[in-house]
Amino acid sequence: MPVSKNRIRLPTMTPGTTRSVAWLRFGHAGARPKVYMQAAIHANELPGTMALHHLMPMLTKADQAGRVRGEVILVPTVNPIGLSQVAGNVHLGRYDLLSRDNFNRNWLDLSAAVAERVGRRLGRNAAANVDLIRGAALAALRAMDPVTELQTLRVEMMKLSIDADVVLDLHCDTNAALHLFTAAPDLKGAAQELAAELGVQVTLYNEPFAEALTFSGVNGALWPRLAARFPGAAIPQACFSSTLELRGQHDVSDALGASDAANLYRYLVRRGVIAGRSAALPRLKSAPTPISGMDVGYCPVAGFMVYCLPPGAKVKKGDLVCEVLDPANPGGSRARMPMRSRTDGILFSRRRDGALAWPGMVAYRIAGAKPLAHRKGMSGLDD
Ligand SMILES: [Zn+2]
Repeated sequence: MPVSKNRIRLPTMTPGTTRSVAWLRFGHAGARPKVYMQAAIHANELPGTMALHHLMPMLTKADQAGRVRGEVILVPTVNPIGLSQVAGNVHLGRYDLLSRDNFNRNWLDLSAAVAERVGRRLGRNAAANVDLIRGAALAALRAMDPVTELQTLRVEMMKLSIDADVVLDLHCDTNAALHLFTAAPDLKGAAQELAAELGVQVTLYNEPFAEALTFSGVNGALWPRLAARFPGAAIPQACFSSTLELRGQHDVSDALGASDAANLYRYLVRRGVIAGRSAALPRLKSAPTPISGMDVGYCPVAGFMVYCLPPGAKVKKGDLVCEVLDPANPGGSRARMPMRSRTDGILFSRRRDGALAWPGMVAYRIAGAKPLAHRKGMSGLDD
């Protein structure tokens, strides 16, 4: 089957403008496994778009050779609203300027709608339940009547993703090592395979699943939410979802894009989406760590940032990570507020040197193995 290119038109928000989302299908509609990948929902995060740019010709070639066994849906730039938000020569891609929503929050938790539609019919047959739940989730999305451009975007993209076996949401951080977020039930198997194949430096998992309504969160958590609601029914984790953070915003290059694409392609072969033999899985670079063990450095004061360590650095509890400089303080070292790690782990995300700092701002994140008292009950992502 030829590669199909499709377009979803979003409703007009201001007279004279319309935006649309382009998506591509490789392989046959309805074939399994189904993999959905999108990039740049935070519209100024383009390493994933670069990876898909390199992946698409590889998939086209595989498709022409009849080697795509499953279905692959790619959305290289999923957020035309955020792409258009350029103000004063600065691209503002993280929040919708109209609603002030973070583009990667408030996706749709469909568990109540699915429960209402098919809850009474869920029994001990796991495969039958998967079909029932996917059908009901799609029916619930089709029954929605979104009004705004952003609401429509959320409903339409979830119509493409909610019945997928694998959902990968490609993001990046400001200045970061390659890392991914997933949920505890996915750790064995799917997530560790992805982490190993991609060579991620840090794998973080929510327990038992992501409470935040991120895109990958709502797709993956539909299953454990329903399993909790219907404990007598056999409801498997039918969708592996992950937020994949492809380093920092400036890590866009042909070298990185080509290598990420080659790694994603090998993952598709490993999952049986593309025909081929898998080589031995590379070793994980570090053991997965819980979100409850992630130290988040919140700035205590205003100023600007100077860092002592690069992304990916190993740290010990008490190590100096960065300082916040008070620009008008003449006291030399007394003008510098130190911020120290509260765990042993890997500094996987930080801002750039010279970044403006304000009280409460997230200055860095460190992945540690031990749950931290001040992190219990927090989500993986602090807006
Ligand atoms: Zn993002």
